[in-house]
Amino acid sequence: MSRAYNFSPGPAALPEPVLRQAQAEMLEYRDSGASIVEISHRGEAFLEVAHRTEADLRTLLSIPDDYAVLFTAGGATTVQALLPLNFANAGQTVDYVVTGHWGKTALKQAAPSADARIAASTEAGGFRSLPARGEWTESPDAAYLHVTANETIHGVEFREIPTAGDVPVIADFSSSIASEPLDITRFGAIYAGAQKNLGPVGIAVLIARRDLLERAGQPRAPIFDYRTQLEGESMLNTPPTWNWYMLGLTVKWMLDEGGVAVFAERNARKAALLYSAIDGSGGYYRNDVAIDARSRMNVPFFLHDPALDAAFLTESKAAGLVALKGHRVLGGMRASIYNAMPEAGVQALADFMQEFQQRHG
Ligand code: PMP
Repeated sequence: MSRAYNFSPGPAALPEPVLRQAQAEMLEYRDSGASIVEISHRGEAFLEVAHRTEADLRTLLSIPDDYAVLFTAGGATTVQALLPLNFANAGQTVDYVVTGHWGKTALKQAAPSADARIAASTEAGGFRSLPARGEWTESPDAAYLHVTANETIHGVEFREIPTAGDVPVIADFSSSIASEPLDITRFGAIYAGAQKNLGPVGIAVLIARRDLLERAGQPRAPIFDYRTQLEGESMLNTPPTWNWYMLGLTVKWMLDEGGVAVFAERNARKAALLYSAIDGSGGYYRNDVAIDARSRMNVPFFLHDPALDAAFLTESKAAGLVALKGHRVLGGMRASIYNAMPEAGVQALADFMQEFQQRHG
């Protein structure tokens, strides 16, 4: 059996050492007499996993003490629905900058619980660029301003997310967290579903300034209340222990590899290699995103003739390169090249693209 280079957008490839360690510990975790998913989340062994995971994540992302870390179930979408309930008063304005499918989703999730407004959107242009900062129409009394750091489907990424004066910025980092150093103090909160850079699907991370967590928000069940979740160490109910454990292994792997600065360099090289394969193909392959908005993590691209798509997918798979089919919203291809994708995988894709072009002309 051999593992392919997996370009899946998420659930995405996990680092092989993480899978091997999970495999080695599957039948019995340390000396607990059972696997990690067969023991209490309140027992010593799992609590050690949970605490170590938070400590390692704090080290990896340089999270300051005045920011809390929550591990939540329900994915990034659930966080999106809970943002206005936790951080806005009833009827208060919340601003959204919409640069792709996921920004739109975040807005939709917030709309029932706040006066959700679009401060800027690039939808009219097909989500191929970033909105000029000078043209954002923000509400001065907004509870927060929401942005999507990296749009996983449209392949649009902010290289530096603007601040918004006294209005805290909340950013969805689902598909780019830990891909480069990040100054968290520029944000009120950031969040991410785990299934791209942090581990398997089933858990999300919310990193929020502690003073924002003290906001009254709106009536909500305790389980949806981030203050209560923080007091309960993200264990108000049984947490997704397997996912938490896997997230811990993945974070540890990133630390062992040298941390986010090392990944930033690797990711920049990987993206440069792939975009130059596309741009250097004489129009055979095409990426439509403005150069300064191109994502380092998700690279959508199109063949000059869509009739070749099926052959591209079949032949790439045969060459050991899987999950390159684009999202149905855009069609074409998409290569997701998160932290766990080695540079050799991107090189193999670039080589394949060139060979395919020669073969099919
Ligand atoms: N935001 C972004 C940027 C995403 O890429 C995704 C999932 N691909 C989501 C939110 C939704 O995440 P989830 O499926 O964990 O709810």
